[in-house]
Amino acid sequence: MTIHFVDLDAQYRLIKSEIQDAINGVLESKDFIHGKSVEAFSKRFSKAQGSRFMVGCSNGTSAITVALRALGIGPDDEVISVANSFFATPEAIAEVGAKVVFVDCEADTYSIDVSQIEKYITPKTKCIIPVHLYGNPCDMETVMTIARRNSLHVIEDCAQSHLATWKGKGTGTFGDCGTFSFYPGKNLGAYGDAGAIIVQNEELYKLISMHVNHGRTKKYEHDFCAGNFRMDGIQAAILDVKLKYLKSWTEKRRELASHYESLLRPHGFKTISVKPDAKCVYHIYLVEVSNRDEVMNYFKKLDIHCGVHYPIPLHLQPALKQLKYKKGDFPVAEKAAERILSLPMYAELTKEEVSKVCEELVKVARI
Ligand SMILES: *Cc1c(COP(=O)(O)O)cnc(C)c1O
Repeated sequence: MTIHFVDLDAQYRLIKSEIQDAINGVLESKDFIHGKSVEAFSKRFSKAQGSRFMVGCSNGTSAITVALRALGIGPDDEVISVANSFFATPEAIAEVGAKVVFVDCEADTYSIDVSQIEKYITPKTKCIIPVHLYGNPCDMETVMTIARRNSLHVIEDCAQSHLATWKGKGTGTFGDCGTFSFYPGKNLGAYGDAGAIIVQNEELYKLISMHVNHGRTKKYEHDFCAGNFRMDGIQAAILDVKLKYLKSWTEKRRELASHYESLLRPHGFKTISVKPDAKCVYHIYLVEVSNRDEVMNYFKKLDIHCGVHYPIPLHLQPALKQLKYKKGDFPVAEKAAERILSLPMYAELTKEEVSKVCEELVKVARI
């Protein structure tokens, strides 16, 4: 019996007719770009995340790039981020010409180790980008205290943290802005590329809106060169349908995560720790093992799909070798990268399937 890692088909079957109606609606209205569907989705997603404003974007990577540009970050600036994330986070920093400065993560939450941030701040530091990796919110109060004390901007990478909260407040609403990805496999996924920036300050909202759309003030008047990073109307209409279900899908993820935990922790396995003030949305559910290749081969034979997020820590990525980091610089992130294994996790997964995954894992995995 196959157990998928993510099953987009199972989700689609439940909402197929609504999705088709939504797409047809856009085809009829011809609101392909910056139309009513983007406006409607922006309002609803802002509300769901607890934000004042949202600007639709072409994807989660461009959302970070645009946020950095709108905050005026560029060459000669340094941006602090975490050594374990998806490559897009440092890539966006490099894209604006700034230098990424990594910080190690915590061993239990896999979030940026806030106790280490300040030692990496220099006169060139302009911004911190914490990543709510796996949907597990970082300690945003401490990040904001450090940022205020050192006059730094904060962009929260929320690509994996739709509806996640810290002390009841949505991720992405603490910093200057929060960037989201709606890549199909994310907790809220489009049927193509899409992203968003949420923002609380109205001036910054207006500036970001210009930065995604050719630096426009009027249709053919441009204040600065910015490029095109707009969200597409069909994707917004699809996301608006899915948003109605996101709360219940997220609850399902939480239930499945606690089921995993109840089956794995008694065997001594290390899984994701969530701080008492955080509400995790489990984009990924992972476990640490010392014989990962063996476990993955065994699972492959059983047709249980799993993954590794992410096998190479960012400071050791070939694309960033000019930064001259070396093995040993971020021991916690490096150790995690060797041991983590992402298990099946999506709203339509059943408890029985989770039990089966754990039953098999316990047979083969070593701590
Ligand atoms: C997915 C992801 C991104 C990039 O989003 P895209 O929409 O794929 O460009 C950025 N950061 C993190 C942490 C991600 O998981």
